[in-house]
Amino acid sequence: MKFKVLGCYGGNVQTIGMTAFLVNDVLGLDGGWVTGALSLPEQEKVRDILISHAHLDHTCSLPFIVDNNFAVPGFCLRIHALPEVVDALQNHLFNNSTWPDFTCLPNDKNPVLRLLEVHDEQPFYVAGLTARAIRVSHLVPTAGFIVDDGQSALAFSADTGPTHRFWEIVNDTQNLKAIITECSFPNELQRIADISGHLSPQTLGEEVKKIKRDVPIFLYGFKPRFIPVLTEQVQALSDPRLVLLEQGRTYEL
Ligand SMILES: [Zn+2]
Repeated sequence: MKFKVLGCYGGNVQTIGMTAFLVNDVLGLDGGWVTGALSLPEQEKVRDILISHAHLDHTCSLPFIVDNNFAVPGFCLRIHALPEVVDALQNHLFNNSTWPDFTCLPNDKNPVLRLLEVHDEQPFYVAGLTARAIRVSHLVPTAGFIVDDGQSALAFSADTGPTHRFWEIVNDTQNLKAIITECSFPNELQRIADISGHLSPQTLGEEVKKIKRDVPIFLYGFKPRFIPVLTEQVQALSDPRLVLLEQGRTYEL
């Protein structure tokens, strides 16, 4: 399995892109910076995206992927998400007010967008992989995902504050090769991190103690204004498993 970092920040400034990863060129993990990172031919290949939650920094490319590829024969983007996230995308994004409801365009039978519900901890098959959604602890209903090709598994926590069940399942995942988790605010803004359901370096330090596996723990989600201080504070944790993701880079697992 390989994954490319399309965007790995908690905000957008110039070329700094928001959360989106591309697995094996065809499966999206969140949709914050897909159209900003991929050419039209590359976008056409993306037919499935797992969406962790409805916040805009994880979803804001979705309207434009569909719009860009509307005229491609047979194109259909399938979004897989928790039921509450599907509701939010339908009611607040593809609602014929902020953007057309592409789930019934060009017609109900063969739409260019399908919003598909996934359920807690139940495996489902997508893009040649087995995936599972596990709820984490964020401000709105949010799932982390584990995707597994039978040889390698990648765990993506999505946005979360301190959480438990996700790490329990990660620790039990046989093929685990890497984890992607978040760190958003510096220690000085711990209160903001707590009330917004995010991690700071100090709460990340507590979370990584729950991870019993010796695999790389890639970090995403730095708020752009705090990149230098967050980098210093994460390095001060001195956990050799912690690696800052590089936007644009492809990682082989
Ligand atoms: Zn969020």
